[in-house]
Amino acid sequence: MPVDAQTSYTVPQMRIAANLRPVALRRPPRLAIVFTAFGLPLCCLVLFVLSQPQPAAAQTTAAKHLLIYAIDVEGGQSTLLVSPSGASLLVDTGWPTPDGRDAARIQLAMRDAGITKLDHVLITHFHVDHVGGVPELVKRVPIGEFLDHGPNREDSDITRHDYAAYLKAIEGKPRRIVHPGDTISIPGLDTIVLTADGDHIASIPGVSPTPNPYCAAEPKWDLDQTENPRSAGVLITFGKFRFLDLGDLTKAKELPLVCPVNLIGTVDLYLVNHHGFNLSNSRAFVDAIHPRVAIMDNGAHKAGSPEAWQTIHESPGLEDLWQLHTAEDSDAAHNSPADLIANLKGGADGAWLKVVASPDGSFSVTNARTGQTKDYPHK
Ligand SMILES: [Zn+2]
Repeated sequence: MPVDAQTSYTVPQMRIAANLRPVALRRPPRLAIVFTAFGLPLCCLVLFVLSQPQPAAAQTTAAKHLLIYAIDVEGGQSTLLVSPSGASLLVDTGWPTPDGRDAARIQLAMRDAGITKLDHVLITHFHVDHVGGVPELVKRVPIGEFLDHGPNREDSDITRHDYAAYLKAIEGKPRRIVHPGDTISIPGLDTIVLTADGDHIASIPGVSPTPNPYCAAEPKWDLDQTENPRSAGVLITFGKFRFLDLGDLTKAKELPLVCPVNLIGTVDLYLVNHHGFNLSNSRAFVDAIHPRVAIMDNGAHKAGSPEAWQTIHESPGLEDLWQLHTAEDSDAAHNSPADLIANLKGGADGAWLKVVASPDGSFSVTNARTGQTKDYPHK
């Protein structure tokens, strides 16, 4: 089994607002406060109301902003982007479970964003925590096209099985194999493929490569023979706002993007490579991309490695490192404050982190567990 294809399954549950010390600049919605005060009976009513479609409000938000949901798929990846035009891209689909847990969580995020179909679904690579949710998702949601890096390259029975299940699920549906330099047509966004099938882009239009002083101290890393370094990764630009998602790219393939020169430039939001495993997140890479905010899609007992956490935490310019889960096998010194964690140890699972970005480069992150929002003004 691949190193990152391990987790436990849980039944989806709604989140309950907790009494946490707020770090956010904005209060949670009034409904959440009412819920906390009046307890379970009203809770059920509130959850019912919140679960209903709210297209008017969502469309108003989507008309001006890029929405990004880091969906909790328990240590896999599923990241939903909805552009101001309403066009959408889902990066990865989480795991397969008998109850369709991750497809259901994706549908909840789609409802929050006011969309009923997915225009593009990008599968970064063929590990089960990324591609495993496809068979269930195609039963539930109309999908415009699937994008991936081409055939499975990993010599393991489990990944051959998961790739075959993917091909069967998307049979007859549009599929496009992407290469570095390809674009994904999402009105309102510039979306470019930086990595795919072990190759990387030579240069990014509009970006001048700059020398990277962090390369000199970076060790040489061996290439692992799994699907991870084959990950299809994208850079998404919305005005001045830049978001980087490279799937589970590992160190040996991170470095050509930033050494000896940094081809990417800096980003506002970094979806942490490989859920925060220390097989990824080389210091020369993380420091070069200089994220303002990082979101780590770790599980309770998966990834969130102390070494990777520390590298990101110490990255120059980093303002916050958000986590989808408490990294329970790590320690308090290598977990972010509770307000920045969507799903705490001992609590319910399924809370997402929602980013609302503006073309001027400003953005906010909302923790669905607490309802609190933190703003990152444009610089
Ligand atoms: Zn993974």
